[in-house]
Amino acid sequence: MSIKVIVTGAAGRMGQETIRTILNEDDINLVSAIGRSKSDSIGRDIGELVGYGKANVNLTDNLKEALQRTKPDVMVDFTVPDAVYANACLAIECGISPIIGATGLSSQDIEDLDKKAKFAGCSVLVAPNFAIGALLLIHTAKKAANYFDNVEIIELHHDKKVDAPSGTAIKTAKELAKIKKFNQEEFSTNSPARGENMDSIRVHSVRLPGLVAHQEVIFGGIGQTLSIKHDTINREAFMPGVVIAIKEIGKHKGLIYGLENLLDL
Ligand code: NAP
Repeated sequence: MSIKVIVTGAAGRMGQETIRTILNEDDINLVSAIGRSKSDSIGRDIGELVGYGKANVNLTDNLKEALQRTKPDVMVDFTVPDAVYANACLAIECGISPIIGATGLSSQDIEDLDKKAKFAGCSVLVAPNFAIGALLLIHTAKKAANYFDNVEIIELHHDKKVDAPSGTAIKTAKELAKIKKFNQEEFSTNSPARGENMDSIRVHSVRLPGLVAHQEVIFGGIGQTLSIKHDTINREAFMPGVVIAIKEIGKHKGLIYGLENLLDL
């Protein structure tokens, strides 16, 4: 039986990629696509908008009406920080499990969504990174951490990225810090070139046009180093993760934080 999906932020860059992916999947059925109110694209066929061809689903700006009318199983949200929490609450109120790719949820928001989802008997997935390679990088680095006492992280992104270090670099540092306390000599505040101290691990951020999203974790040991690197070349990189999320979320209740929890790692 096919899984019915609604996509919010459907006219954005990630939203459009998600729509193309869903339209190409046999067992996932796009039932509605939501854009920002007053957007010029409202009313257009979303398939035509993303260059797929007619999909017979028009972009609408009324999420509540669309949820009630099309009764999806899952909502995928790639909107903006201002909209994501309200969208997720609306979906959960209708008993629909949200998959949240958009950034901007606070820890309190996530806690609230967990409670609401459990009460409604559905699930909520908050996935800061859908790129499976990036999740495998963290997983592999955690294994390597047992054998090295020194580590640094370099993350490289396009010049339009507003935050630094990236969420994935912060998450990597936090996960590695849970494994052990790494060697940290001086953390002098007057040597900014030595990187930012994240959980006692140095993180270096590079921002340049021409880059997409890249991260390297470098371990140092006696007479050897180990580098683990992941490169995101374009937004298609996130789509296998989105598809796994859509197919797996129905098997869970309450909060799932991180797509890695749905992978067989
Ligand atoms: P984007 O191109 O700016 O797309 C956001 C879209 O949301 C825009 O089309 C915007 O419409 C629309 N929007 C705003 N308010 C809305 C509302 N209330 N209802 C429906 N649509 C609304 O940004 P993007 O690059 O696609 O990224 C979207 C989000 O995903 C960001 O938070 C980004 O950080 C995150 N992201 C996550 C991952 C991951 O792996 N989890 C990967 C990449 C990006 P207008 O353009 O008309 O304002």
